[in-house]
Order: sequence, then structure tokens, then C-alpha cells
Amino acid sequence: MKMQQLGEFGLIDRIRKMTSVPDPSWVGIGDDCAVIPLSPETGGAPASDLLVSTDMLVEGTHFLMEDISPRQLGWKSAAVNISDIAAMGGKPIATFLSLALPKTLPEQWMQEFMEGYNEISEKYGAALLGGDTTCSPDRICINVAVLGTCPRGKAKLRSAARPGDLVCVTGTLGDSAAGLRLILGGQKGAAPRLMDRHYTPTPRVEEGLALSCLPGVHAMMDISDGVGSDLRHILDESGVGARIDTGKLPISKELQDLCREKAWDPKELALSGGEDYELLFTMDPQETPDIPYTVIGEITANPTVTWEGGSRDYMGYKHF
Ligand code: ADP
Ligand code: MG
Repeated sequence: MKMQQLGEFGLIDRIRKMTSVPDPSWVGIGDDCAVIPLSPETGGAPASDLLVSTDMLVEGTHFLMEDISPRQLGWKSAAVNISDIAAMGGKPIATFLSLALPKTLPEQWMQEFMEGYNEISEKYGAALLGGDTTCSPDRICINVAVLGTCPRGKAKLRSAARPGDLVCVTGTLGDSAAGLRLILGGQKGAAPRLMDRHYTPTPRVEEGLALSCLPGVHAMMDISDGVGSDLRHILDESGVGARIDTGKLPISKELQDLCREKAWDPKELALSGGEDYELLFTMDPQETPDIPYTVIGEITANPTVTWEGGSRDYMGYKHF
């Protein structure tokens, strides 16, 4: 079978079935980060867990050199990784940066890439502590590993959703996907804020930390492939389903205006677009987070997903 038939998640599932975690208190493949409880045996204080994740950006797949500036790419490379720490309700502490670069890449490009990378890393207190550098025959490949911490046993897992929970998101959805659509259509200048959301996403670290303190907040993840795809990970890992009211999806004023002008479907962009890097979480209806968020639906015991008011079964971005 080729990757195309197996698909990204089919492949990850295969790898997952060939591995196991050393202890049930560890979290391995299947969440936004791995969770490693620190103990005297693993060299840490007993009160905290180590969070680890890694994400790769490949030229031609995740970015086009003629479209994104090196500074923006540096920012985005760190941002999408820091977002996975935010997704667990953790605090970023460090990153490792590995680069495969063509021989012809100008030094100035790397200089600007690092300025963007450092800007966001400093903003969220993640120190660049190492990495690897090698030559690529043709295209750029960037891999970042990120480390974070959270109090022992407090990481918000994808597997914790319960029937009756509200399904919630931070911020607005679909802006980044609309920005990408404009870029690909050669209309870069049309909506600067949407473009910014695509090029320089903001990881929701403060929001994740605020939500991590609330016992009524159950499952959480960040939205990288679109709610249509990402929600399914929470449902699969938790063994539950959901009813989503597509009329409640938070769509920014800019996106509404643009969709009207272009006759685009905002629900399609919000659910299938991806790269929002907002937080998707489920919580007890009694819980009252002190951050801006929108309730978009409810978790059900029946393990299927329904998109009320939608025009189809939304699937999100697919890598293969
Ligand atoms: P995210 O979108 O949060 O970065 P992914 O969808 O990329 O998460 O990955 C889903 C899960 O699969 C994560 O726990 C990730 O660590 C794991 N994973 C992805 N690719 C591999 C791989 N090649 N080997 C082992 N685990 C992997
Ligand atoms: Mg994630």
C-alpha cells in the first residue's frame, strides 16, 4: 500500500501499534505532545510533567519561497510548535531547530529567518538550545522540537472529553485558510489581517495556561488541520461523538466581508481550512473560563459527528 492510500493518520496509527509507553502515566503517540512525568528516576522534581512535541515544515508542502518572507517563516516554524505546548495547557521552555538547506541559500535569508524565530521564542520564553544542520539537494526542510512543562498530571489530553461537555474554541476560525486562498490566487494585498494570521499565527499560550487551571475543562488540542479534522481526534481518543452547530462558528468580520465579496463559504473555510492555531476544548457546562471563547456544540455519547446547518461532512486538511 502506498502512503496515498494509507493516509497520514493511517500511517501514524501503524507506527503507534508498533510502540508502547514505558509506564501508563506517560502519554505517547496520539496527542499534541508527549507527556513524561518527571521523577527522581527521570532526573526531575516530582511535581511537574515534561511536554515534548515536534513539527516539520517542508518547502513546497507547507510554504512557498516566493510567498513567505524568511522572517515570517522563522516565526511560523516556532509558532506551530509552541502551539502544541499551548494545546496541553503547558508553558513552553525550550526548542531545538533542525535545518536541511540547499547550498545556494543566501546567508541573509538565514539571518532574517532567525530574527523571526527569535522574536516569537523570546515572546513565549522558549530558549533555542540546539538542533541539527545539513545540506538538502533542493528544497528547505525545517524541523522544530519543543519542550514545555505543566504541573504533574494536569496536561489537557485529547482523550478526556465526556458526554454532555460543551465544545468550545478560542478566537476566530478560517482566517488563515482564507489568507492562503488569497495568496494562491495572487491577491496577497487583499486582506492584510487574514494574511498575517496565515504567515504569523499566534499560539494561544496564555489561554491554554488559563484553561489548564480549570478542572471542568476536559479535552484540549490546537487546531492545525481544521475543526473538521481535529475534532475527530478528540472524539476518537475519548470514545465519544459530537453535535456541532455550524451557525455558531466564530467567523471574523474581515472573513465575513471577504466571503460575501468572493462568494466563498465561510463554514467551509472555518471547518476544513486549517492552520488556525486556536484551541479546541471541551468542558463541563458549569465551568466559566475567564478568557474569550465560543461554544460551538456539544459532546455526545453516540460516537458520530453531526454538523448541524452544514452542507456536508467536513473533513479538514489532508496531508496525503
Ligand atoms: P499535531 O497536529 O498536534 O502536530 P499530528 O497530527 O502531527 O499532531 O500527530 C499526531 C500524533 O502522532 C502526535 O502525537 C505525534 O507525535 C504523532 N506522530 C506523528 N508522526 C509520527 C511519526 N512519524 N512517528 C511517531 N509519532 C508520530
Ligand atoms: Mg497539535
